[in-house]
Amino acid sequence: MTEELIAQADTVIANTYQRFPIALERGEGCVLWDTEGNAYIDFVAGIAVCNLGHAHPRIAEAVCDQARRLVHVSNLYYTTPQVDLAALLVEKSFADRVFFCNSGAEANEAAIKLARKYFSARGEAHRFRIVSMNHSFHGRTMGALSATGQEKIKKGFSPVLEGFDFVAFNDLEGLAKRLGPDTCAVLLEPLQGEGGVRCPAPEYLAAVRELCDRAGVLLIFDEIQTGMGRTGKLFAYEHEGVAPDIMTLAKALANGLPIGAMLSRESVAQAFAPGSHASTFGGTPLVTAAALEVLKILTAEGFMEACTTMGAYLKGRLMELKAQHACIREVRGRGLLLGMVLEGKGGPLVKACLKRGFLINCVQENILRFVPPLTISREQVDALVGCLDALFREGLGVP
Ligand code: PLP
Repeated sequence: MTEELIAQADTVIANTYQRFPIALERGEGCVLWDTEGNAYIDFVAGIAVCNLGHAHPRIAEAVCDQARRLVHVSNLYYTTPQVDLAALLVEKSFADRVFFCNSGAEANEAAIKLARKYFSARGEAHRFRIVSMNHSFHGRTMGALSATGQEKIKKGFSPVLEGFDFVAFNDLEGLAKRLGPDTCAVLLEPLQGEGGVRCPAPEYLAAVRELCDRAGVLLIFDEIQTGMGRTGKLFAYEHEGVAPDIMTLAKALANGLPIGAMLSRESVAQAFAPGSHASTFGGTPLVTAAALEVLKILTAEGFMEACTTMGAYLKGRLMELKAQHACIREVRGRGLLLGMVLEGKGGPLVKACLKRGFLINCVQENILRFVPPLTISREQVDALVGCLDALFREGLGVP
């Protein structure tokens, strides 16, 4: 049955993903089952999406309840779940206003448009350039792609959008030089995920904030991967005590239902007026009801502390592996967004883990990325570490 499904998929689905040869049909908590009945402990979580695990009963209930009442109306009308979600996001963040869309790339498109509109509304339309980071990832639509600092992702799609400059992440001097009279914003991930789980140096984000303030430039944080508790705080910027002017969210916001959001300060948000930007599905009652429940669970007493504890536990166990295996160059990351840099390629390890019942992910060819549901247990972490240990002993991960 699985073979037939895969054969059919290969004839009817666009060829944009290299998929693993399993078909998943059910999940519960941090475990997934395929169509053959095999179980997998999930350290991918739909790539940092299912932060509360699979088939969470409260989210399932919120979705079912809302689906029975109202799934969609146009944004020409008000709906309670959308307003309640925006109000809670505002309460829990630096922001005053929220624009809803459907994905991370779309949230970044909205942020790019808002930054440009902010200056054009002030009669400074020449300020349209955005400084972004090398190794960044902001999405695959043309604007988000143009802001992404990885050539391989842009290859074949020229000309990309004009107005993006790039500097190395953590290079303050380079950034200071890049900020010019035409710059409207600096866009960065507070911790780079896709680009290789790269952490900000201590005080880096605060210094970026200061540079932006001095240059009168807006600061945009892409928290699409780092947000919603992934790094042990609801938003990663909270670690540094530095808030942006605009922040983008998606991925885990509704634990798997498609949603994106762009949050901003009032003074910036005012640049948008009716007609400036829109999305048919943005903030539909169904997805916002789910996201509202997600946010309530994440912000409940003790939840973030538990994530921090489990993140430290997983990191500690990965560090133990590093002490034993010379092919592990570095373990890095924050909370439950962790990376293991290998001397050799990560792909064979990912495949071997899959065969042994673990889903893990590899970025940039040699960096294993661990982004399990935030509800992962010590036993599940120990099981993965045991599996990795055995694979390293077999010689995987060596160049
Ligand atoms: N920004 C960041 C930091 C991401 O990690 C991603 C996806 O991995 C995106 C943007 C794009 O999000 P989406 O795939 O929902 O368009």
